[in-house]
Amino acid sequence: MALRRGFKEAARRIALDVRAELGVAVFAPLDPYALAELYGIDIHDLSAPDLPSAAVEHFTGPAADSFSAALLSVGTGSVIIENHTHDMVRRRSTIAHEMAHVLLEHDFGFLLTENQGCRSSASEAESEAAELSGELLVPRDAARTAAFRGWTDYSVARYFRVSESMARWRMNTSAARRIARRWRNNTGNTAETRGQRGTWLNKRVSSRVTGSWT
Ligand SMILES: [Zn+2]
Repeated sequence: MALRRGFKEAARRIALDVRAELGVAVFAPLDPYALAELYGIDIHDLSAPDLPSAAVEHFTGPAADSFSAALLSVGTGSVIIENHTHDMVRRRSTIAHEMAHVLLEHDFGFLLTENQGCRSSASEAESEAAELSGELLVPRDAARTAAFRGWTDYSVARYFRVSESMARWRMNTSAARRIARRWRNNTGNTAETRGQRGTWLNKRVSSRVTGSWT
């Protein structure tokens, strides 16, 4: 579902605010578990002793791929139950997605996240959570810096600890490489010039984004 007008910019600002709260630079991997802790969201996994053992065996065994996490309203707060058998890249993405719902104050009582996103009829909320979780893990400005540095999707994925498909999405959606290419075409193309101006641009981007909060 298409995002409402202005949402991408709003998500970008929320993600930058969150990084400032966490004391994490724009061009650095973000720890979604630290974000959950900052917002007082407890995270439990399927090893919690009070969960029904048959269900746990099911979701850590044959159906492991079908359960990523659940986000539950408990009293005035929220709790996340995650599938700890998934690899860390997927777990980070899942927690970032759940935290996006929390940050956006989406109205939920219970959200179940499967391998293709939440089992929710609110497609607008899902689109927003997907967009914000991408901004949280790989901010647009960070994607543009990576493009100016000539990073591959693989390098972006490794550095930001996300899947390669998410890295590709962030690099494409932020128009990062297109902007970097146009800038190079417009401003000269020697390696020396690129290096000097790239450094200047990176400094400018990071000071603009982090300067007022640090
Ligand atoms: Zn969701």
